[in-house]
Parts: sequence; C-alpha cells; structure tokens
Amino acid sequence: MAAKPSSIKYKSTRGGATGLTFEEAVFEGLACDGGLMIPDSIPDVSATFKSWSKLKFHELAYEVAKLYCSEAEIPAADLKELMCRSYSTFLHPDVVPIVKVDDLYIMELFHGPTFAFKDVALQALGNLYEYFLKRSKRKLCVVGATSGDTGGAAIYGMRGKENVECFILFPQGRVSQIQKQQMTSVLDANVHCLELEGTFDDCQDIVKDLFGDLPFKKQYCLGAVNSINWARIMFQITYYFYTYFKLFPQCDGTMSFSVPTGNFGDILAGYYAKRMGLPVKHLIVATNDNDILHRFFDSGSYDKYPVKATCSPSMDIGISSNFERYLFYVFGQDPKKLSEAMTEFKKTGKLAASNQDLQTARLDFASACATEKNQQDTMRSWDQKYQYTLDPHTACGVSACDQLRYKLGWAQLPRHAMVVLGTAHPGKFGEAVQAALKRPVVLPPALAAVEHAPTRFQVVPCTTQSVRNTIERTVLRRQYPAPCDCLSGVRRMLVGC
Ligand SMILES: *Cc1c(COP(=O)(O)O)cnc(C)c1O
Repeated sequence: MAAKPSSIKYKSTRGGATGLTFEEAVFEGLACDGGLMIPDSIPDVSATFKSWSKLKFHELAYEVAKLYCSEAEIPAADLKELMCRSYSTFLHPDVVPIVKVDDLYIMELFHGPTFAFKDVALQALGNLYEYFLKRSKRKLCVVGATSGDTGGAAIYGMRGKENVECFILFPQGRVSQIQKQQMTSVLDANVHCLELEGTFDDCQDIVKDLFGDLPFKKQYCLGAVNSINWARIMFQITYYFYTYFKLFPQCDGTMSFSVPTGNFGDILAGYYAKRMGLPVKHLIVATNDNDILHRFFDSGSYDKYPVKATCSPSMDIGISSNFERYLFYVFGQDPKKLSEAMTEFKKTGKLAASNQDLQTARLDFASACATEKNQQDTMRSWDQKYQYTLDPHTACGVSACDQLRYKLGWAQLPRHAMVVLGTAHPGKFGEAVQAALKRPVVLPPALAAVEHAPTRFQVVPCTTQSVRNTIERTVLRRQYPAPCDCLSGVRRMLVGC
C-alpha cells in the first residue's frame, strides 16, 4: 500500500529535529543541527504508479508533490493550480522533451526561462514560497550565491513574487557575460543582484555568515534557494517518472539514468524515484575533474580536494552538499553514525565508508569522471556524427555512458532505455562549445534577447558587513517607502517574522 500521503513529516539527517511539517521543512532549509531535511519515510507507489502513465507534466508533478505534502497543508486544488502555473513558463509543450540520439535518450531539461535544469524546481519553489507567505502573512528574503546558473534560475523563479525579496551575490568578472546579462536584466523591483569584488567562494562564505547570524536570519527571514532545500529535490522527482512513461507507455521496461552531477541534488531525486518504485536499473553519477563523488564510489573514501575550474562550471564543486542525504540511507538511517561522520569530515576533510557500506552504495550507483578532453571529444563527435549540439555538462553524462557501456552491459539489456539528463542548453556555455566545435553556437531567441537588454545591479565591497547593510537598506526602502515610517517599520517587520 502507498504510504498515507497525509501523514508525512520531516526530520533532520542528524537527528536534531523531527516531526516538522512540509512547510517548516521548506522554510528551514538547513536544519538547526547542521543536517538536511528529509521525509520520515519514502512513499511506496510501486503498485499504483502505472495509473499516472497518461498524465501531463504538471499533473504528474501534482501527484508526486501530494505524496510529500499533506492535503491539510496545501489543499488539492491549490497544489494543482500551483503546479500548472509553475510549468506554464516552459517553452516546450512537453516541458521536458526526450530526444533519441543513436542508442541514448537525452532528457532535455533546459526549456525553462533560463535554459538550465534548475528552472524545473525553482519555478515551482518561487510559487510555493509565495503561496505559504501570503497565507501566513510573512515576508522572506531569499539570499543566494551563484557562479552562474543557480542565480539566474532563482531570479526567474522569484521575480515579481509577493512578499519575497531576492538577493543574489555573484563574483565580479567571474560569471560568463550571458549569465550576468540573464540575471541583471530582470528589472522586477524585488530582484537585487549584488556584484561582489571577490570570488565565488567569497560570495558563498558571506551567505553562510549571514545564515549563521541567527538574529539577522530571524529578523529578515532568510530563505535558501540552493538544493539543500528539500522542495528542490522533490520537484525534480517528477521528470524521472515522466520520462519513463514517455518511453514505456505500457510500463513494461526498465531504464537507467546518467546524471551530470555537482551537488548531488539532481541524481538524488532519481534515487528517491527508484525507492518509490520506479523500475530504474542504473543511476550513473557523471562528474567532471572535480570528482569527489566518483572517487567515493571507486574507493569508499570521500576526501575533499581543491576545486578546479573546468569547462562545465556548474559542476565545479569541492564537496556535494546533498550527499549527506544519501549517506543517511547508506548508514542504515542512523543519525548518530551520520552525525559523527559529518563532524569528522568537517574537521579533516575526509570520510571513509566501511567495505559493507561501499558495497551498498555500489548497488545504488555507478560512476565515471569525464575529463576536459572527454567533454570536448564527446561534444565534437556528437556534432559530427549526429548533428546534435551538447553542452559541456550534458557531455559529461554522455561520456559516462560511453565509459560504462561494457562494464554495465546496458546496451544489451532487453526493453531497457539509457537516458542522459540534458542539464543545460549549449547556448548558455557558448564559449566551451565553440572551442570544441570550432564554430559559434546558435542562441535560442529568448537567450539572444537578453544579450543587449538593459540591466540593473549594484557593486558591493566583498565583506559580510557591506552585504548585510545592503540587504537592510533595501528591505527598509522597499517595504516602507516613507522615510518617517522607518522605525515603526522595523518593529512591524520583527513581529511579522
Ligand atoms: C547545477 C547544475 C548541474 C549539477 O546539478 P546538481 O544537482 O548540483 O548535481 C549540472 N549541470 C548544470 C547545467 C547545472 O546547472
């Protein structure tokens, strides 16, 4: 029997919080004990999911979300409407179309407003935040750091949303021109792009400082948009089911997914889909040279290395924040064991799994690392052989399939489909694609349109204090435009939060 949808609650992977509602889990972001929010059980739909096979994308998104959020929290009609609105902004009628190229299928996740897969979750998260805030008469300050993709998707998800102010920090001179244009050309009054005179790591450290300053966090109701937020994982589960139904309308096959991976959010959604009962054969973790995850599945040691800049920058991470959610299951759902391992990892930058844990993990995932050369060769050969232009991230996923073709033997499996998650449009990473193909990439019209659009952003010194002041000033100005009202404004805001 499927778990009763109305009973689901959330808890921290480290045991310090239990019994939270979906709404609380979404607003909490990071748990107070430093852990991540997970559902207290994974709904089992293996006996019933076939009845979803004819649903449209937004209808399927509703079916998945309603398992993770009780109807008492969001009435069915509201949740349905929310999902419908969230995916109406996608340019393709299928939302997530699937294209067959040779013996692989590419799940094109890049037809949303910013041409990268993060739109699928962030379009919905923006609406979800707005819905909850309106109901509880609260306000929220979304604060996030970006090296390019997340910022754009977050801004397009939050633009114009009532009761949400959105602050995105990006490093000066270190995001691509098109990514900067995409973020800064959104002129909605609630969107604030802060260009910091520093690196991406500086931006991220400042965001961490602000979230760690609990009085500030509480006063301004800071909210997270990165994939530590449970809702992002949940909204990504939909496309694994959707793709299965598109390729096996009679539900009579199995499939495998190769996922270009950075923070382990996208592939974790695939893991949840499998645990829910979707017939998934392999889940392939495809990394670039920042291969901490590949090294883990290879050797059992999860060791932090310095980050290298590659041509697939959205996967340039030193550690994968969502991996903690998966380790929780590997460690037999033992919060104490996990907590100790994470404390040790924070101290030493090292974490070792036992042989038995590694065996478990290898049953769940296979992995491969796509080097810079692998990515370029893959982009070039797909252009020449199939006239299909891959972006460098998706190329990692394709390269991983090629590397594991014989080891996993997937090409010989009957009634099986190997699907690569297409995480970005090649136009978003034009320089890397052009370097591989030796010709410019054609931009989709909506992306070309932002190239010369007017922009608004502020340059801010790279200190936590400067960013804090900017947020304070902006929030006061936005909420209480009459200067004499400022003080009472602060008081009212404190009560409101
Ligand atoms: C964010 C991103 C990824 C990595 O996704 P994770 O959920 O962090 O593993 C891969 N490709 C692109 C284009 C991205 O923007």
